[in-house]
Amino acid sequence: MKKLFFVYILALVSIFVYSCDEVKYEKPLVVTSTFPLYTILKEIVGNELSIEYLVPTGASPHTYQPKPSDAKKATSALALFYTADNLDGWISEIADKKRIKLIDYVPLDKIIFFSCGHDHSNGNHEEHEHEVDPHFWLDPLTVKSMLDTLVFELSALYPDGKKKFVKNASVFSAKLDSIHNEALSLLNPIAESVVFMHHPSFNYLLNRYNLYYGGAIEESPGKEPSPKFISDLVELIKQSGAKAIFSEPQLSSKVAEVIAKESGVKLLELNPEGSSNGAQTYREIIINNAKILKSGLE
Ligand SMILES: [Zn+2]
Repeated sequence: MKKLFFVYILALVSIFVYSCDEVKYEKPLVVTSTFPLYTILKEIVGNELSIEYLVPTGASPHTYQPKPSDAKKATSALALFYTADNLDGWISEIADKKRIKLIDYVPLDKIIFFSCGHDHSNGNHEEHEHEVDPHFWLDPLTVKSMLDTLVFELSALYPDGKKKFVKNASVFSAKLDSIHNEALSLLNPIAESVVFMHHPSFNYLLNRYNLYYGGAIEESPGKEPSPKFISDLVELIKQSGAKAIFSEPQLSSKVAEVIAKESGVKLLELNPEGSSNGAQTYREIIINNAKILKSGLE
């Protein structure tokens, strides 16, 4: 009987320890949907707040299915930061928390729209709205232009941290200039190259560093390309003179392999989510990808 009681106590203690482990954070928590947003906000919050991201870096945030553990984290957070409704809008379903949509903080002159593939020369541009490209984090200068608003939002969430947020943001701002200069010197030698990728994730970076977007294997998230689409794309790649095309670890590489083979070009891997190629910081997300682009296209 005594032994049984002991086992019972042990079980209770371990449940208690386990559940503490699940919900306890040293500082008030903010949650981001993705790893890149985490790396950006981490630079500003420093050690003032706890910060967590939800989507594992090998998964695509476009098609991610949130887990119960995500909802648990989200429920413990002061606020949830996400990219855009057309990327990680599912975050609104997991917890009734303050949500901060970062694409809204990108100044209008830095927003990129997906081109819709038809001609506007007859002036019917106003008739429909073009979809905003949500992958803003891949241009360091776009991120830099958002810092004041980010500090403002974080300070509203956690006024005690304001002084530190301001200080950290100014350090990060200088860091973003140096990341930009580093990317510029890496990519200058391949300026005006044409880049084909798995999904249109790098337009902000291509635009910043004078590279041209040639096309993508996946036109919209989760959509498989048709045989006709693939053969047209192969033709485009051949005509462009590109030496490589780029897949992404979040998407199946089989079609990309076929297309690279048929086009007679190398297949390299970019990572807009940034971590499977070893990136741990915002700088590494940009610089690792810039190096891969350079190695494929020079
Ligand atoms: Zn994407």
